[in-house]
Amino acid sequence: MKDQFGRTINYLRISVTDRCNFRCRYCMPEQGVTKRSHNDILTLEEIAEIADAAVSLGIMKIRLTGGEPLVRRGIEELCRKLKSNHNLKELTLTTNGSLLAEKAVILKQSGVDRLNISLDTLREERFRSITRGGSLGNVLQSIDAAEAAGFEGTKINTVLIGGFNDDEIPDFAGLTRDRALNVRFIELMPIGEANKWPKSAFLNAETVLERVPELKRIGTDGAAELYQIPGAAGKVGLIRPLSHNFCGECSRIRLTADGMLKPCLHSDTEIPLRGLHGEELLSAIREGIYNKPARHYINRDGISGTENRTMNEIGG
Ligand code: SAM
Ligand code: SF4
Repeated sequence: MKDQFGRTINYLRISVTDRCNFRCRYCMPEQGVTKRSHNDILTLEEIAEIADAAVSLGIMKIRLTGGEPLVRRGIEELCRKLKSNHNLKELTLTTNGSLLAEKAVILKQSGVDRLNISLDTLREERFRSITRGGSLGNVLQSIDAAEAAGFEGTKINTVLIGGFNDDEIPDFAGLTRDRALNVRFIELMPIGEANKWPKSAFLNAETVLERVPELKRIGTDGAAELYQIPGAAGKVGLIRPLSHNFCGECSRIRLTADGMLKPCLHSDTEIPLRGLHGEELLSAIREGIYNKPARHYINRDGISGTENRTMNEIGG
């Protein structure tokens, strides 16, 4: 279905939980967020019902995210349910990689088509610090496990953080030389915890091209500009929500773990879907899609329009 600005909306991101076993400094406060009780979180059946309604309105791709989607019990069952709707063309999942090594095979068998694994540093000490306690080794094992389970086109999401990982840009790009990985550098967004961060932390993705001058532009993939080191097996992507506004081509809507439809990541507008069924549910989703804001205004005042939620609640 199209929104009021003529954009085709065919991509739904679902946050299946706001809980996470990491506490990434730019995403969640150290003490975590006030935990919602299980009753406040959509059940797997409710998620599947909303997803099916959205698919009947033209959603073709679903990404499961969170919080950490792999801490949600029954995630495999949800994947199987979603994938049993043959009008859904693609099911993907974004994970921090901590539990993926043990779940990669079952996720593949449950119908997940592709994975994004988040990884902001290749140095153990830094990894422990940015995630507040995570293990780099587990994530590296997960990348191997995903490959062994038959996942292709796995993307590594790396948030660029000035003064933290900009010196590792060549190392990350170097991962693509021998392996068919897509490393995507993402500009840090001033949302949730990162709203309070100093300007120096927010790097323009252009920095990647300055630090790895061999990169050659080869095209685009959704919101990412694609580059490649000549002869490399993998690719490098730049995602620039701040420096290159891509709202004009945005095809996404989001569903929060507590059942709110969020037409834009950077807007506080939310439409409650919980408890709605049949035509009522469809018409609420239609309304959300139609009224998706034209664009975000992060550039104007340096702060995201989403002030009531942290990133783990919305689903990155
Ligand atoms: N826990 C999973 C993970 O980390 O991949 C999924 C949820 S996480 C919120 C999804 C993505 O959002 C991660 O790649 C994370 O790095 C990114 N993210 C979180 N806060 C961000 C911010 N302020 N700016 C840019 N990306 C952010
Ligand atoms: Fe958890 Fe992902 Fe947020 Fe890190 S970025 S705290 S792994 S939800």
